[in-house]
Amino acid sequence: MADERVLVVDDSTEVQEALRNLVLEPGGYRILTADDGMEGLRLALEESPDLIILDARMPRMDGIEVLKELKNRNVQIPVIFTTFHGSEDLAVKVFRLGVQDYVIKPFEPREMQSTVKRVLEDAHLRAERDRSFRQIQAANERLQQQLEEMQTLFRIGRSIGTLLDAETVFDQVVEAAVSVSKAEEGFLLLKEEGGEELVLQAAKNLDERMAGGLRVQIEDSLAGEVMRTGKPMLMSRGRPKVSTGYLVNALAYVPLKTPERGIMGVLGVVNRRSERAFGEHEVRLLSALAGYAAVALENAHLYDRAESERLKLRTVLQETGEPVIVLDSRQHILLCNEAAYSALDLPGDVVGRLAKAAIQHPALRALLRSALTRRRTARTQVEVEDGRIFSAELTRIEGVGYVLMMQDITQLKELDRIKSEFVFTVSHDLRTPLTTIQGYVSLLDRVGPLNEQQQEFVERIRTSIVDITSLISELLDLGRIEAGYDLEMEPLHLEAVIDHVVEEFRPVAAEKNQELRWTPRTLPLVHGDRQRLRQVVENLLNNALKYTQEGGRIAVEATEGKDHVVVHVADNGIGIPAADQPYIFERFYRVESTQTQDFKGTGLGLTIVRSVVEKHGGRVWVESRPGVGSVFTFVLPTLE
Ligand code: ADP
Repeated sequence: MADERVLVVDDSTEVQEALRNLVLEPGGYRILTADDGMEGLRLALEESPDLIILDARMPRMDGIEVLKELKNRNVQIPVIFTTFHGSEDLAVKVFRLGVQDYVIKPFEPREMQSTVKRVLEDAHLRAERDRSFRQIQAANERLQQQLEEMQTLFRIGRSIGTLLDAETVFDQVVEAAVSVSKAEEGFLLLKEEGGEELVLQAAKNLDERMAGGLRVQIEDSLAGEVMRTGKPMLMSRGRPKVSTGYLVNALAYVPLKTPERGIMGVLGVVNRRSERAFGEHEVRLLSALAGYAAVALENAHLYDRAESERLKLRTVLQETGEPVIVLDSRQHILLCNEAAYSALDLPGDVVGRLAKAAIQHPALRALLRSALTRRRTARTQVEVEDGRIFSAELTRIEGVGYVLMMQDITQLKELDRIKSEFVFTVSHDLRTPLTTIQGYVSLLDRVGPLNEQQQEFVERIRTSIVDITSLISELLDLGRIEAGYDLEMEPLHLEAVIDHVVEEFRPVAAEKNQELRWTPRTLPLVHGDRQRLRQVVENLLNNALKYTQEGGRIAVEATEGKDHVVVHVADNGIGIPAADQPYIFERFYRVESTQTQDFKGTGLGLTIVRSVVEKHGGRVWVESRPGVGSVFTFVLPTLE
């Protein structure tokens, strides 16, 4: 490369001339000359030439000494060493002192030219390599620093997710802000609710006096300006002021913004002793950290709000006179009010426990079990220790779990009982006059001949008496069943009871040309009243046959469950409209339609079925579709 400067240090003018005229000028190099080592060293230090051609023997300071001096001063100029008296020793010595090449005089100009060229090229390459190395090193350091910054941000980000306590997050954010910006001090200020001041929330290395109660006016402070403009602030001139009496050399402030409530505060770092200023890079890092602090603030706010809503709800539920228990989707108790504790006589604190472990009442446990498999609200009746009777309702609530509400129906039950007793007494009292009427009616044709019309009237009276008598006997039955007086419980085989009834109904089915299917299988024993259970199957079969057209199919099936037996009575008859289904087990309820109007009935059959089944600790329900048919199912617990 032309224009490079070569320093020739040699006491021989001849050599100087030869180098100038034969080697360096033709090569396009600029030349500096020194006649001895001392002068050579001075020029080398002052002029920093690109290459030195150094003679070994010179007055005042020889070549070796020059090399030593250059080495001592850590001067890295490439050197070609020249000598008349070459020896291996000398060569080793000078190479150790960092010489690039070694030439024995007299030299061939061409040879010298190519040596100069090569040494300079090598020096260039080395310089290039050193520069690249330094660049890589610098890039590496930058990467390392960025990695550390990322790790700090990541750590804080992760802890935000797990920490609900905003203050801890603020401390971590300020700590990280100081560390990533390499600042001396850092702090986080938040706007006071409805106030005009910013109040210190967290600080790192802040002067104790200041940290004690740092408050700054939004109106006339730098932090206040950040609040007003919503923009970061960088300052490093004119000793900016954090607050009265708190002057610093450099500061960087970033706003703390929440999406819901706007700018809530300022995150700041300052240098008080060092003059080092902060830059855009620090602002970016601080902004990320301020973002985390904002999330923590928002989380804390949302948590407070949710918590206060929860407390409100809890208070309302606690004050409610009716027992209420709230469960999560896995049926752990989330909330249980006082009324529930006292009604169910629950032990200690049940919150957090699994409902089936905390609640012992069998009916409620069955209700909880059934809710796991069914989507709809489930209900049951619960009689508690102190004699009160509750109607319990378990409702599934999306996103929460379940709510168990219990309504005290003790009084309603009592009224119901009084009513039943009244009906029972009246029915009973009606029986005597009815028997009398029936007796006299049957005597009428004996006392004298009746004409045809009289005959017909008497016949109608007789059928009506039969209807009333069966109504009264069903009412009396119901009264007895509900009172539970005359249940004669014994271990029995339900399949035998069903078998008996099915055989009873075979002629009736045959008359309507209906298929009646029943395959008995051995079932576990149940504890029941044979007479009443027979009545249950009779009523269900009677309905199935009655409400199924001629030629239809009726099937009875009984199977064994985990701790119960299940009986289905299915038909492909007229079916029951969905709107009527919830009521058909109620007293006197009959579906009113053109299809049912021709069928006689009291509307008490299914009421008796339900009463008997429930008195046995079981349940009965219907699944039906108009035009397709109905399936009545009842379950009874098996004997343990
Ligand atoms: P009823 O004496 O009227 O049969 P129930 O209490 O036995 O009284 O039944 C109530 C009502 O339920 C009946 O009136 C009828 O409308 C309907 N029902 C009962 N069983 C069936 C069935 N298998 N198919 C269609 N409807 C039925």
